[in-house]
Amino acid sequence: MLKVENLVKKYGNATAVAGISFSIEKGEIVGFLGPNGAGKSTTMNIITGYLSSNVGNVYIDGDEILEKPESAKKKIGYLPEQPPLYMEMTVGEYLNFVYELRGCNLPRKEHLDEVCSVVKIKDVQNRVIRNLSKGYKQRVGIASALIGNPPLIILDEPTIGLDPKQIIEVRNLIRALGKNHTVILSTHILSEAQAVCDRMIIIDHGRIIADGKTEEINKFIVDNRRYKVTVSGPQNEVLSILKKLPGVLHCEPLAERDGDAASFAIESQSGVDIRKAMFYALAERNYPILGLEAIGASLEDVFISLIDKEGV
Ligand code: ADP
Ligand code: MG
Repeated sequence: MLKVENLVKKYGNATAVAGISFSIEKGEIVGFLGPNGAGKSTTMNIITGYLSSNVGNVYIDGDEILEKPESAKKKIGYLPEQPPLYMEMTVGEYLNFVYELRGCNLPRKEHLDEVCSVVKIKDVQNRVIRNLSKGYKQRVGIASALIGNPPLIILDEPTIGLDPKQIIEVRNLIRALGKNHTVILSTHILSEAQAVCDRMIIIDHGRIIADGKTEEINKFIVDNRRYKVTVSGPQNEVLSILKKLPGVLHCEPLAERDGDAASFAIESQSGVDIRKAMFYALAERNYPILGLEAIGASLEDVFISLIDKEGV
């Protein structure tokens, strides 16, 4: 479906993309994961033909994006980081405009109705885009990417700036799209890629540092054990008990307090489960555990595990 070969993009002396290659098969939902400035948007702009690379090729179903831009672009629906919405148009007017722009020849009314029902914007067709909430604007952007029914959908940070409820809605929408489309989305949030994607391509400083199925990438992330524990007892004493547990890498008190209880972030060496030892050590001193929750790994943790693993 998509083949990217050795993309390099420089802005002046700065290299934004430093030799990226990967292939994506039909039907995959792939997360492009990396911190701000990693080169995600630049890569997506090159894949979609909005930007040219200094070196490298992009093939969409065999068509090179700069050699056969028309047929290649017809196969891509793109939601850029800042969707180019015309704020004074109504949703219906805008989607008709995109329909014309893309030279779409599917039956107009049926197709636009279908797109609107997929992204659930039928009820705002006559509203002016400017007056819509951020979540609805984002859905209009996604709708415009679906016009012409392109097989490959590329979404650049589709949930950025949305509230938690809207984030869940957009993630569900992406999963639903994944049933009939190949989807690439970029994000700087690990849990988002874990929740939505079958595969993750992790990039940093314009390079791919990991590329694998989400469950494979998860294996060594889950291994990194961090918990938040809330204990009823004097903070300093509890802290020193926790720090002495075998296998603890570090432990620090958190700012929050709840009556006579204090909370701590505690992290163990990989492969060591400290929960039972923690329970017995605190029970022995009559300091009850009021709460224990796993703290999900962050993107920084992933980088640390990846770098440890590769021995870079
Ligand atoms: P991401 O989307 O992962 O946050 P970008 O692709 O936007 O990363 O940016 C990658 C690097 O390229 C960053 O260091 C950014 O500052 C730089 N960059 C992006 N666009 C431009 C531009 N138009 N001119 C100069 N530098 C740019
Ligand atoms: Mg970006």
